[in-house]
Amino acid sequence: MILKVARLGFPSLRTEASPVPADRIKSKEFQRLIDDMIETMYEYNGVGLAAPQVHLPIQLAVLEVHDHPRYPDMPEVPLTVLINPVVTILDRTLVEEWEGCLSVPDLRGRVPRFKHLRVTALGRDAEMAEIVASDFHARVIQHETDHLKGEVYLDRMPDMRALGFLQEWQRFMLKPEKQEE
Ligand SMILES: [Zn+2]
Repeated sequence: MILKVARLGFPSLRTEASPVPADRIKSKEFQRLIDDMIETMYEYNGVGLAAPQVHLPIQLAVLEVHDHPRYPDMPEVPLTVLINPVVTILDRTLVEEWEGCLSVPDLRGRVPRFKHLRVTALGRDAEMAEIVASDFHARVIQHETDHLKGEVYLDRMPDMRALGFLQEWQRFMLKPEKQEE
């Protein structure tokens, strides 16, 4: 089932999400929620979706990058379910790139993110897993885990002049070399 996506201003997007009790993960109802979030992410061409974006202040996020229309040049990221994730930054070098968010529709902004990180989280099987990610993969993880803290990418922007509407961004803000790709 495709879920309704909360937009900026809805309280769950500004609430620190609660951990999911491990014994709840394998329940039919929670597994269905995970499936619905994956379906919703696909429907709206997101590279990730966090539970606060579907009105639920709980520590659950899904992500995947695969032949993505919005990010055709980005490396693929396998389908991942993160429950109660803990992020450790491994390289604090900041990399700037453009981001968007389904909860902040039609905008793109330039956001610095840490280059390299490790995330430990429960998966949908309720087993602990560890992922080491860098660059775009690390960016998606930081974007989604920020949602679980009640933060959005706008909060991470050092310069709000690097924010624009999608259409204008494509015409005037994207670097020329990127447009040619
Ligand atoms: Zn987002």
